[in-house]
Amino acid sequence: MSYDDKLTEEVKKYAAGLGSCLTGIANAGVLNEALVEGFRPEDVLPGCKSLVVMSLHIPDGSLEILRRGKSRYSYNLFGYAYINRELDFLIYRMSCFLESQGYATTPIPARGAAIGAAKKGYGMISYRHCAVAAGLASFGLSGIALSPEYGSRQRFVAVPTTAPLRPAERLLDQKEVCDGCLECIGHCPAGAISLNPPHECKMRGKTFRYARSDYDKCIHVSRGLSTKAWKGAPFNPKVDVPFVENPSGDLLYDQLWNKRDGALRVSEAAEATYGATICGRCMAFCTAGHNAMKRRLRPDQQETGWTDDLGFSRDGTLKPLPTEAKPLGKELLGI
Ligand code: SF4
Ligand code: SF4
Repeated sequence: MSYDDKLTEEVKKYAAGLGSCLTGIANAGVLNEALVEGFRPEDVLPGCKSLVVMSLHIPDGSLEILRRGKSRYSYNLFGYAYINRELDFLIYRMSCFLESQGYATTPIPARGAAIGAAKKGYGMISYRHCAVAAGLASFGLSGIALSPEYGSRQRFVAVPTTAPLRPAERLLDQKEVCDGCLECIGHCPAGAISLNPPHECKMRGKTFRYARSDYDKCIHVSRGLSTKAWKGAPFNPKVDVPFVENPSGDLLYDQLWNKRDGALRVSEAAEATYGATICGRCMAFCTAGHNAMKRRLRPDQQETGWTDDLGFSRDGTLKPLPTEAKPLGKELLGI
């Protein structure tokens, strides 16, 4: 396939001008092979050749204040609800730009498609896989797409298009971004992510291994239905709603939601509460994200602010977190 290098450069420049922190191009054929039927680029846009992948950095402070169990509000808004609005802006503008160049696109909103999707927990397309295929990130053992620049601390989106854009030359190895510390799994209060056995995904001759996730278990905790979420923190839910295997959308968003801790429903702005997470621990405790923040801080800021390596433990106390690779992490990453 021949690529349009001029348009590729224009697209990247346009994305940077919109504020995208990391921008890259994924080849649709690579993702057609890697993703399951019904959720491939070809399924959302017939004739799709490329995906423009863009991202926005989640402010470190939003995750650091969460990591210490002080407040979840900053992360809920600037790591989830509000940042999704900004991501929708990138998607909308990039779709219009590509269409103005005479190419077809499918703009997929940054959130919400998982509700009522044909396959539980699936959006129309996996932005994480798009980010890996665009050479911007690789899978952490958590399953989150980690970048060298920000670790876990960004959100990715992708615009499928029929434009023949030049894709990334190289995909990143997992060991280039993940420390193998398994803090993500150890801090999950729902036991929702497991490496026993890991999930495997192949792209361009590389095999990526990462945790399988149990959508129901994660949703139960992260939607505020369990007091296991942030034990000891002031914003921890006060009510335990019984776990239901495979809840229907109606049950989850009506009956179970209404049994939730009333304070969670009424104490915050609707935008930050609806669909926003009570948990986020797998992202907040990711060592790669915390270390990426420290690398980006100027030298005279290395011993100040959020650099003390403290985290809110599962036992409800604040203590320094271990960062060294665990044997299973080393084995899976080949380090
Ligand atoms: S959001 Fe919370 S419950 Fe869900 S996988 Fe991450 S740590 Fe586990
Ligand atoms: S917490 Fe550690 S093992 Fe988990 S994704 Fe982050 S760096 Fe990798």
